[in-house]
Amino acid sequence: MIQRQLINATNKRGFMPDVKPTKNNVLFQKIWNEKNIAERSLLASFLVPLILVSLLMLIKLKFNPLTITPPYVLFFAVILISACYGGARAAICASLISFVAAIALLFIPMHLSDNLLITHLLEAIAFCIEALFLSFLIFYFQSQRKRNKNAALSMKAVNELLHMREKDHENFVHMAAHELKSPVTVLKGYMQMLEARLSDGEKDNEIKLLSKMDIQLNKLLKRINDLLDLAKVNGGAMQYNLANFNINNAVLHCIEDVRVANPDFLIEHDAMEESISVNGDKERIQQVVTNLLNNSIKYSGNEKYVKLTCQLLGTYVMIKVIDHGVGIPLDKQPFVFERFYRANQTNAADKPGLGLGLYICKEIIKQHRGEMGMVSQEGSGSIFWFKLPAQGI
Ligand code: ADP
Repeated sequence: MIQRQLINATNKRGFMPDVKPTKNNVLFQKIWNEKNIAERSLLASFLVPLILVSLLMLIKLKFNPLTITPPYVLFFAVILISACYGGARAAICASLISFVAAIALLFIPMHLSDNLLITHLLEAIAFCIEALFLSFLIFYFQSQRKRNKNAALSMKAVNELLHMREKDHENFVHMAAHELKSPVTVLKGYMQMLEARLSDGEKDNEIKLLSKMDIQLNKLLKRINDLLDLAKVNGGAMQYNLANFNINNAVLHCIEDVRVANPDFLIEHDAMEESISVNGDKERIQQVVTNLLNNSIKYSGNEKYVKLTCQLLGTYVMIKVIDHGVGIPLDKQPFVFERFYRANQTNAADKPGLGLGLYICKEIIKQHRGEMGMVSQEGSGSIFWFKLPAQGI
């Protein structure tokens, strides 16, 4: 559940999306460059506002020596410029230096009345409070950005770690599946040779044993192939040999194979009257059909009847595999196409599987510009369907 929430919060493969810099962001970065701000020394953060305020004071005394009103607006500008140079620290220095400068002006002998002096003093104190408040806002803004940046950095690190883990995992699955596949394939070859030799000598019991072993080996091979396909799908390395082929015939071959392997099942085929072609990898599409048929048999419960229909729907060929088996509970239906998901966990022991078949099927159909879906009712059965663009319609 937690894993699902995490994946929902991120993108499809479970990684956080990267944020691209915009033009405004770039301009802002130039004005407020945190890297530069972090490199400023305390002395520099003090000297820059000191020099700016001193310059302002010199200009004021030169051009307007007859009043003691300090240039408050320009002092605020100095605070902002200092903030961009050295962050909140420089802004605080600028506030205090400006305040001291404003007070210093009161000591210029001008023979002002006491009231006027007090007014100027109060003005300077009010300025100091406002300037410190502004510095506090700058400090708050700076620490907020630092926190966001740290969060983004740790998110990036988590992303990279997830990426690495996923890659390692895929490599391992691919390598392990390969290692398993070669001896099993060799073993299967020897068994078939042995079966052929034994059938010449009419050793029925041994032959039965061998065919049971063959069934188990086929299951093992199917799992290994699923793992290999998973690694290919995830790594984007699935190869498709595209060509036009007759979908009716392709489906019929699958049905015949599944009938041979499941003689006690009635598998009905409702074929299209038209001879329609689709463009795709025939073997991969047959893999999907066989997978759906095998699932409908695997989860058939006591009903030994399965139906496959093939129809032309607009510009699509629609294939449905219908069973009257155990069905899938409503709350589990949204997840059946997810990898490693198994809806009927209670029967996991007698219906073994990795929960990969449907995930791989959906990926294959997607790569053929098709769609795949299902409807099901618990206890009544399921319909698994997919549709592919028809050729020449
Ligand atoms: P596997 O069958 O190996 O577990 P799949 O990816 O083929 O993996 O199927 C995922 C899950 O969907 C299965 O575990 C099963 O719970 C459910 N499922 C698939 N097909 C059917 C079906 N025809 N009837 C009922 N449940 C099904």
